[in-house]
Amino acid sequence: MNNLGTPQRPLSVAIIGAGPSGFYAAEALLKAPDLNVRINLFDRLPTPYGLVRGGVAPDHQKIKSVVAVYERIAKDPRLNFFGAVKLGRDITAEELSARHDAVIYAVGCESDRRMEIPGEDLAGSHSATDFVGWYNGHPDYRELKFDLSCAAVAVVGIGNVAMDVARVLSCEVDDLAKTDAAGYAVSALRASKVKTVWLLGRRGPAEAAYSPVEITELGELPGCDLVVDPKEAALDEVSKKELGDPAVKKKVDYVQAHALKGEGSKSRKIRARYRVSPVELIGTNGRVTSMRIEKNKLIGDDKGRVKCVGIGEFETIQVGMVLRSVGYRGIPIPGVPFDEKSGHIPNENGRVLPAPGQPAIPGQFVVGWAKRGPSGLIGTNRADSVLTVQSLLEDLKAGRLPAASDPSPDATQRLLAGKKIRALSFADWQALDALEKANGAKANKIREKFTRIEDMLAALPVSV
Ligand code: NAP
Repeated sequence: MNNLGTPQRPLSVAIIGAGPSGFYAAEALLKAPDLNVRINLFDRLPTPYGLVRGGVAPDHQKIKSVVAVYERIAKDPRLNFFGAVKLGRDITAEELSARHDAVIYAVGCESDRRMEIPGEDLAGSHSATDFVGWYNGHPDYRELKFDLSCAAVAVVGIGNVAMDVARVLSCEVDDLAKTDAAGYAVSALRASKVKTVWLLGRRGPAEAAYSPVEITELGELPGCDLVVDPKEAALDEVSKKELGDPAVKKKVDYVQAHALKGEGSKSRKIRARYRVSPVELIGTNGRVTSMRIEKNKLIGDDKGRVKCVGIGEFETIQVGMVLRSVGYRGIPIPGVPFDEKSGHIPNENGRVLPAPGQPAIPGQFVVGWAKRGPSGLIGTNRADSVLTVQSLLEDLKAGRLPAASDPSPDATQRLLAGKKIRALSFADWQALDALEKANGAKANKIREKFTRIEDMLAALPVSV
């Protein structure tokens, strides 16, 4: 039995990823009774907060206010932030394990799923997650180009990401300009010619993945009508069974009532379609010009799930841009197990497994989307991270954590300094944060984000 976590020897934990799940894991460790712990929190970007900064839509500032909680956690003297340090590039999994008694991966899902249909790679066909990163000023996506000179865009999928991108494409740009949306995106959206956004759900209104509040927001946009065909809003027999769930009923009631309002009189339209699947993107000169969709019927399977199957009736809609919003997917990290089938890190109760079904790797843990896949709201990650930390603490108690060979407090700093890697501190981030807010105030907006890593580094003195 070692004395990790005791007054004599603090438990040294690395958390990789400073998004919600990483912060909630840190919070659970810092709150653990009688635990002497020291946490190193790494992020590949100079900026913390993950999808709260780079994913949550700019017009949803209330959701972003959760960063106040993360800021409090980051200021705990037992936590050290290492910004702009990427696992697999600047530090290896082995180097981390040598310096920490436990490693928690909070790396999220950084890629997206594909539709797997012909024409998907035509110019003008993008993932919605790219568009989200672009309008949020994420450095990875800021150079992407979205041609908004077309009259109509199709958004495939009807989850909350689809709601976000449909809303941003259809909102009042003067309102968006006051948020923290990237300045270049606001300019491009101001010049947008898009008048119609098709929202394509492969199943019906009862199975829609969006939350009731998100679809309601689409129905209340000042300059855009949400249009639904009452025939598509009607439920088929198999879906009617789902109405016992109050959240489902709320979504269905809203859409059915809205469908009766007809076309409306606003100049822009979001046309929500149900029980249709894209089957092909068609292009001219390599650029998408239309999409072929097939109507579906819904059937129940033996596990009680509702599935869709095509009925061989097709329709073509004219679109100049397609945003597939069919879910995120993890990407493998060198030295960290990855399950290609599920698209995330194989685990049991947050303990990392080399492969599904195999015994856990001692001292390796996972939280958030990297653990369970891309589902749930920000708050879902709190309970999920608590569960993983419980597994970690059980392993600590049982003596199953492998003690680090160099757990000294400055071991990671020394390693990075030896490699000439400049890690940013939380004080550096606070300096950037203050600059972004000051630049925003000059432009009459909440903040003007730095959208290039080199600009962030140039804005900081070498050490704050
Ligand atoms: P999601 O909720 O899983 O929705 C994915 C959508 O894509 C579903 O409508 C799904 O339909 C559809 N889809 C999947 N494969 C398809 C295919 N091959 N063809 C056509 N449609 C297909 O994923 P998400 O929208 O990316 O959101 C990820 C998570 O983030 C969710 O938990 C979401 O609630 C959360 N989020 C929350 C907010 C917010 O709270 N404001 C904002 C953004 C994201 P089926 O249902 O038929 O599979």
